[in-house]
Amino acid sequence: MRYTTFGKTGYRVSSLGFGAMNLPGVPLEQAREALNYALDEGVNYIDTAAAYRNSEEIIGECISHRRSEYFLATKTGKRDYASAKEEIERSLTRMKTDVIDLLQIHYVNKVQEFKAAMSEDGAYRAALEMKEKGYIRHIGITGHRPDLLTKWIGKEQFDQVLFHLNLAQPFALDELIPELTRLGMGKVAMKPLSGGFIQPVDKAIRYPYSQDVNVIISGMISVDEVRENIAAMREEVGEAERMELESLAVQLGAHDCRRCNYCSCPVEISIPDILISSQVRTTFGLLPKGDGFYQRNKEKILSCADHDPCKEKPVCEPMCPYNLPMRKVVMEAAGYYATSLT
Ligand code: SF4
Ligand code: SF4
Repeated sequence: MRYTTFGKTGYRVSSLGFGAMNLPGVPLEQAREALNYALDEGVNYIDTAAAYRNSEEIIGECISHRRSEYFLATKTGKRDYASAKEEIERSLTRMKTDVIDLLQIHYVNKVQEFKAAMSEDGAYRAALEMKEKGYIRHIGITGHRPDLLTKWIGKEQFDQVLFHLNLAQPFALDELIPELTRLGMGKVAMKPLSGGFIQPVDKAIRYPYSQDVNVIISGMISVDEVRENIAAMREEVGEAERMELESLAVQLGAHDCRRCNYCSCPVEISIPDILISSQVRTTFGLLPKGDGFYQRNKEKILSCADHDPCKEKPVCEPMCPYNLPMRKVVMEAAGYYATSLT
């Protein structure tokens, strides 16, 4: 595992960050063991959010007694001043801490949302005030539009950005990461497995590890998963391996979906999950969690071809800022049931 200086914060962060999003789904004792094992093994970056069910409370319950051993990052999804302030105060209480190291404005994907959060009555002012009072050390932003994030960070109001970077979503490499480096900001990549779709796991973790980022947030729920993530970061990535991973990412990212979630579907097909998993699915097959997704959504995915309103003009496609051929990719995904899932 690598340690690097986190932007201008001065903090030395571990390359593996503990993503606590899924901890609410496991028994508390299992969460306690996983978190403490990660700290014992040198992971010193913990990532959560007010929106992740009771994840903040689990962190407070399981590791607040070791608070000096980790950099604590959480997020507010609120956009207005009053509710953001309230949510940040609740995060402090839930995590049993006097100070949040990094408070991120969560999931900002649209210009209107960014403007709302940055307005006089916005969430950013609440974060700034809490920072002035010593309850927050640094302010960051998270989102799924690397192109917009690249524009938004120019005014240097943020210390860090959290973005997707994995073998199926290499898009932050184009502009965002170089700009973050130029500005001396903290770089945090999330979802190395894209939420449980990408295999082989070792390659999936080593790809963001081969890139210029400080922390890779991996959602973990057990000691075994922490061990597996740490093992994948044991050796540095050499030039030949880095080139091999980069060319794989070009192939697996050919779907071009950024997961901005601008699209919606009348029969509730989860379009970004299908697009993002499309190349991985045909190249390597999916992890069990990815197969589970396809199993659960079989009827919906199969119904796309017969959905009359979309036959002439797909309802979803005009919503996509990247003009992606969503109907075609969803219909191709239906072929997965004939080959892999019955
Ligand atoms: S084309 Fe398929 S995925 Fe797109 S809106 Fe229609 S049914 Fe949904
Ligand atoms: S398909 Fe287009 S609109 Fe939908 S999440 Fe992907 S990039 Fe965004």
